[in-house]
Amino acid sequence: MRLILLGAPGAGKGTQAEILCKKLGIPTISTGNILRAAIKEGTLTGLKAKSYIDAGALVPDEVIIGIVDERLAQPDCQSGYILDGVPRTIAQAEALEKAGIRFDAVVSIEISEEEILRRMSGRRVCEACGSSYNVEAVPPRREGICDNCGGRLIQRKDDTPETVRERLKVYHTETEPLVDFYAQRGLLRSVQSSTREETTQAILAALGMEK
Ligand code: AMP
Repeated sequence: MRLILLGAPGAGKGTQAEILCKKLGIPTISTGNILRAAIKEGTLTGLKAKSYIDAGALVPDEVIIGIVDERLAQPDCQSGYILDGVPRTIAQAEALEKAGIRFDAVVSIEISEEEILRRMSGRRVCEACGSSYNVEAVPPRREGICDNCGGRLIQRKDDTPETVRERLKVYHTETEPLVDFYAQRGLLRSVQSSTREETTQAILAALGMEK
């Protein structure tokens, strides 16, 4: 199964990708997580990406395409993968096509802007493994501590209200056109973002998979 998860920031792509990768036994490739890890490690890619991420802007396509090419070439991607947060522009989607990469389905997770702003103010991520929580909807078992790895939970710098508004603007202009792009290719399945469990069920149903 080669799957793309599309959706506005805060729609729950990362959370659903984590759940689906366990259920389907395939890796998730999250460019956001890869970039945050690169920033933490202080690599050249991290240095290039940091100012864009902090401003809520998109990292240049060539940086992203390089990251994805390299990641998809790894052996664990042979039996499938879930792309979370990529492609985010038509140019990225075209680069994937040009590289001969084909997908089985593209799931678009739909959500209102009001709900996005509410969710993102409560979002916390693990600084060690990138797992995502929400102080209201999906709290960790111990406050401030990751259930998966015991790492520290932090609020992302780009989850502040001003940066979220900028990211939403960028989403509408740069990423939303991908909905039509994949609809034209007959790959698009749209689901409504709801609770974590309901959204997972809706995605599995949209993919024609049993619970
Ligand atoms: P995310 O964790 O997916 O919300 O990504 C966080 C930030 O990383 C985005 O706001 C962008 O600055 C950058 N980013 C992640 N994925 C991409 C991508 N495919 N193209 C461009 N920028 C990206």
